[in-house]
Amino acid sequence: MKIAVLKETAAGETRCAAIPETVKKLIALGAEVAVESGAGEHASITDQDFETAGASMGPRGGVLKGAQVILAVQGPEPASLEGAEPGALLVGALDPTRRGADIDAYAGAGIEALAMEWMPRITRAQSMDILSSQSNLAGYKAVIDAAAAYGRAFPMMMTAAGTISPAKVFVMGVGVAGLQAIATAKRLGAQVSATDVRSATKEQIQSLGAKPIFVENVAGIEGEGSGGYATEMSDEYQKAQAELVSGHIAKQDIVITTALIPGRPAPRLISDVQVQTMRPGSVIVDLAAEAGGNVEGTAPGEAVERHGVMIIGAANLARTLAADSSALFARNLFNLLSAFWDKDAGKVVLPDEDEIVKGIRLTHGGKVVHERLTAAA
Ligand code: NAD
Repeated sequence: MKIAVLKETAAGETRCAAIPETVKKLIALGAEVAVESGAGEHASITDQDFETAGASMGPRGGVLKGAQVILAVQGPEPASLEGAEPGALLVGALDPTRRGADIDAYAGAGIEALAMEWMPRITRAQSMDILSSQSNLAGYKAVIDAAAAYGRAFPMMMTAAGTISPAKVFVMGVGVAGLQAIATAKRLGAQVSATDVRSATKEQIQSLGAKPIFVENVAGIEGEGSGGYATEMSDEYQKAQAELVSGHIAKQDIVITTALIPGRPAPRLISDVQVQTMRPGSVIVDLAAEAGGNVEGTAPGEAVERHGVMIIGAANLARTLAADSSALFARNLFNLLSAFWDKDAGKVVLPDEDEIVKGIRLTHGGKVVHERLTAAA
């Protein structure tokens, strides 16, 4: 079975869907791996590194010729996939809800598209979860970016010239990114507090040595929807949360927001009036910027100043750690392929009834088959 690894063409994309380690492991399974020249350029991987791992290198046309699996970070231009075998698997972050026309084109070209971001949240699939692997790095980098933009230090320092007090960091939304943000801010010596709507996160916050800030006075709140994701909260809860946040936020130096609700715009957690209560020089990093933002006034990919407070609309932070984000992404893809590797057939075999296959398979036999897409159409 021939596996092609593409060089990313999207603006700003730095990651690569394979690393030498995963190339070696794919070859050990029995595959042949061809990597497009320059694919690892921004992730500090040279063509020579891939060759040493056993891959052949070349331009896209040659790499795709006869390929039965195509690995990519982002969905490639459908027209650029000519030469792949009919029925070839395309595996990557294909952004199916926003790139419907491309998904239709993959189907038309006989490509079987697998969207890694729709991986079901089951234990068996944890090692294949690109959202988790990339969010973890984003949570870390959000704190590093906040520290860089903040004109004071994070840890308490007792010096001969006097004492510097520790920064107060508040993390809103304690999923994968939020947990890593808490851990990173703690490591830097900040005083950390955090909030979420899922009550299960309270213990996780405490176990990282941070202080939980939770709405306690609205009854019957669980906040947990399916697959460990949050649900949209009642008006009563939102009001109570806004009051709680107002009281707390005025005393914070750094706020990291990460709150997302699947299939909905990001919940608005901080208003302009609340930003105004923060001390000048404070920094907010909004990791939900691309989903509409948790903070009023956020602009994705930009840093804006409001009332002396810097609001950083973080976009694709994992890309700024290209070597690590590529390594984790590449291992997520390898874990999928190896889980479905049929030793006797010497190739990947995807059973129709498997929960993972049903979760990520967008196209099959020339048609769009995923129910989330066919229902929308
Ligand atoms: P996410 O990115 O969808 O959301 C980030 C956080 O924002 C979540 O914790 C959510 O509860 C919170 N949030 C939403 N609305 C909010 C509001 N109004 N106020 C405050 N917080 C709000 O979440 P995620 O990081 O993808 O992870 C969610 C959960 O899923 C975690 O418990 C994680 O461990 C679990 N998970 C499981 C698997 C698996 O089993 N395979 C994989 C990944 C994640």
